[in-house]
Amino acid sequence: MACARSLSQFQKAFSDEASCAAFMFKRRWPDGFVCPACGKRRVAALKSRPRLHECLDCGRQTSVTAGTVMHRSRLPLTTWFWAAHLMTTHSNGMSALQLQDQLGVTYKTAWLLTQKLRRSMVDPDREPLEGVVEVDQAEIAFREGDTFFEPGNAGKILVIGAVEIIERDTNQAKPRRKHAKYLDTRSGRIRLAMISDNSSASIEAFVNANVKRGATLLTDGHKSYLGLTGYRHDPRVVGKMAAHIVLPWIHRAFSLMRRWSLGTYHGLRRKHVDTYLNEFVFRYNRRYYRHVSFETLLGLAADKEPASYWDIIKRDNPRKSASRAGSAPLLHIDEPESAG
Ligand SMILES: [Zn+2]
Repeated sequence: MACARSLSQFQKAFSDEASCAAFMFKRRWPDGFVCPACGKRRVAALKSRPRLHECLDCGRQTSVTAGTVMHRSRLPLTTWFWAAHLMTTHSNGMSALQLQDQLGVTYKTAWLLTQKLRRSMVDPDREPLEGVVEVDQAEIAFREGDTFFEPGNAGKILVIGAVEIIERDTNQAKPRRKHAKYLDTRSGRIRLAMISDNSSASIEAFVNANVKRGATLLTDGHKSYLGLTGYRHDPRVVGKMAAHIVLPWIHRAFSLMRRWSLGTYHGLRRKHVDTYLNEFVFRYNRRYYRHVSFETLLGLAADKEPASYWDIIKRDNPRKSASRAGSAPLLHIDEPESAG
């Protein structure tokens, strides 16, 4: 099992508090320690407490966990590191129950870990989608409480989604078109949100918050889209043609999300829908560089969500290219659904 092997490698690299703390120290002070109190650089590590470093000039003790999700936690750093690794590398993410099994911690601990790590999954400074953007809504089934998920008997929520269309050759958010058809495209970044209804107010609030002004909106021509000002409109009337043909990428994202919610969570619970949607979007938008995701979850990396796939592969980072080699992307999304 590829996943188990990579976990054991990871556990070897981060086998104790000291190795985790040393990693965090390097991430925090890549150019060497600087005391936050006096600005001097001479420092001593405290042998008995690997998280703490003491300034040799003013005596101030600084923790490597300050400002991260791990601060003031009693859990070992190894548990945090392993949990974040599992949540970012496991192909479909990880529920608290799965994490409990993998790490041998209590369910309560596993649940707290997943909740805290998921909070790092929304980047408040993320850039809006741009270029040509497919937008559509879908109904997603959810389950109530802890009852078993029965598709025929489930409630429905309404989810709206948007996806950037990227041209394959250039990896830019400027797809070429021939007549009505965009040529050789693939999916860029996505956004998803739950909305209460199909009204113009609900739809406009989502688009305004997630898509840059001036972008071209590819939609099914629903009247709630057409009143949006500040955008170009390219309505695709879904008459004879099914929506997954005229809007393939957003439908691909919806279908992956459905599969993921059933596979990992056995159906979404209404109460947690927003958190789950955020997690799905986080994974999808970072599917090519998982190691950075691990650091983002722990609050170690100030990485921004990339503007496009082009930005990711342009980035000259050997650590990232090493992580791509020999491992499949998180989600297999680069082909549209064939049919149905
Ligand atoms: Zn100092």
